[in-house]
Amino acid sequence: MHYDSENIFARILRGEIPCNKVYEDEYALAFYDIAPHAPTHILVIPKGPYVSLFDFGKYASSEELNGFWRAVSVISEERNLVQDGFRAISNSGADAGQEVPHFHVHLLAGTPLGPILS
Ligand code: 5GP
Repeated sequence: MHYDSENIFARILRGEIPCNKVYEDEYALAFYDIAPHAPTHILVIPKGPYVSLFDFGKYASSEELNGFWRAVSVISEERNLVQDGFRAISNSGADAGQEVPHFHVHLLAGTPLGPILS
């Protein structure tokens, strides 16, 4: 799928728009969601130009895949999400309601989140 390099997360990656940064390394940037759905709501994005979870899995290199998912675990540990638990969500495409066309994982935590599938 075509990647729009003017999407809001691309602009955050380039430093054109500020974010409340949680973590950054070679493969990933994490920051707080501007409209949180839980006491802790972190977005983790890869540095590369991938539209969705599907694109990331299909087109990213093994190094990028490893680096990104390792970063998700590092962030979860550093932010103390592991002991009480957290939810990771990625909306991929229109029917999932994906708003920002740069792949991202939502990390939600800090309260009992209830069942997601009901
Ligand atoms: P999606 O619906 O694409 O899975 O989620 C996009 C998320 O990005 C939403 O939860 C929304 O609140 C968040 N978001 C949109 N624009 C910005 C922004 O400029 N800064 C931050 N930190 N989050 C944003």
